[in-house]
Amino acid sequence: MIDLRSDTVTRPPAAMRKAMAEAEVGDDVFGDDPTVNRLQAVMAERTGKEAALFLPTGTQSNLAGLMAHCERGDEYIVGQDAHTYKFEGGGAAVLGSIQPQPIENASDGSLPIAKIGSAIKAIDPHFARTRLLALENTINGKVLPPAYVKEALAFAKSKGLATHLDGARAANAAVAMKVTLADVAAGFDTVSICLSKGLGAPAGSVLVGTKALIERAYRWRKVLGGGMRQAGIIAAAGLYAIEHNIARLADDHANAEYLAQGLKGIAEIEVRAQSTNMVFVRLPDDHRTALAESLQARGILIRPAPLCRLVTHLDVNRADMDATIDGVRAYFTRNSKAA
Ligand SMILES: *Cc1c(COP(=O)(O)O)cnc(C)c1O
Repeated sequence: MIDLRSDTVTRPPAAMRKAMAEAEVGDDVFGDDPTVNRLQAVMAERTGKEAALFLPTGTQSNLAGLMAHCERGDEYIVGQDAHTYKFEGGGAAVLGSIQPQPIENASDGSLPIAKIGSAIKAIDPHFARTRLLALENTINGKVLPPAYVKEALAFAKSKGLATHLDGARAANAAVAMKVTLADVAAGFDTVSICLSKGLGAPAGSVLVGTKALIERAYRWRKVLGGGMRQAGIIAAAGLYAIEHNIARLADDHANAEYLAQGLKGIAEIEVRAQSTNMVFVRLPDDHRTALAESLQARGILIRPAPLCRLVTHLDVNRADMDATIDGVRAYFTRNSKAA
C-alpha cells in the first residue's frame, strides 16, 4: 500500500527492530533503563537543552510540558490551528486546569505579535494568569519563519511569559532550513519532539528543556500514566531513528514537492499548498469519496477530506509519487466529463 494519510503509518524496518530486540533495558520508572537514559542524553545534546524526558506520545509530551509551566488557573496563548489546542482532546484544560487563550494563526502559521500582546491579561483576580506562549513548528507542514520565531521569543520574554514549542516535526523544520535541531529549539524553555512521525519510530516523543522544567514534567508524566518500565525497547527505536532518519527527511520533502508539481497538472483539483512533507489538495465534493475508492483499488490510501492532506514519509518513494499522480489523473480522465 502507498499510504499518504500521515507520516505516522511507517513500519519499523528490520534494522530498527534488531536495535529494539537487542536494547539493554531496566525499569525506567526507577531511572534504571540505560537505553532510555541514552536517548534522553542524546536528545538533550542534539537540541542544546539541559535535560530530556522520554514519553509514550506527543500528546502526553505536550501536556506534561504545559503542566510543567502552568498551574491551575494559569493560561497559555496558542494558535487556533495548533495541535495542542485542537487535536489533543482539550487536555490542557481537562487534565491540567490550564485555560487556553487561542488566537488566529496567520497564513504562514505564526501568531502575530500584536495579537499575542493584546491577549496577555493584566494581573487581576478576574483573569486567568497568562503564563506561557506555545508555538508549533512545523505547523501544517509549514516552517515558521526564523526571524518571526526570534521576535516572538523576545516578545514573550519581555512580557515575562515562558515558551513551549510543539516541535512534533522539528526535524522536518531543521532539514528544510538546513539548520540543526538545536537551532530550531533555540530560545524555547521546552520543546516536544515526536519520534513516531517522519523519523519512523513506532512510538515515543521526547520533551527537552531546562533541568527544573524537565523535573516537573517527570512528575506529571507519572501522574498522567506515562511512567513506562522496560521502555528501552522503544527508546532503542528512537535512537535508531535519530541516527538514520533525520537527513533523509530531505527525500520526503523532495517527494512532496514532486507530487505537488505532478498534481498541479490536473485541472479538476487544486493544489493549495506544499511545504516540507505535506501537500494540501482541494478535492471537488462530488468526487472525493469516489476518488479515494478508485485510488484504494490501485493500492493508494488517502483521506477524502475537502482539503486533503497528502503526507510523504520513509515508506513511500518517487515511483509511488508517480503512481499517485497517474491514479488521480486516470480517475478524472474517466469521470470528469460525466460530472
Ligand atoms: C502528532 C502530533 C502531536 C501528538 O503526537 P501523538 O504522538 O500523536 O500524541 C503533537 N503535535 C503535532 C504537531 C503533531 O503532529
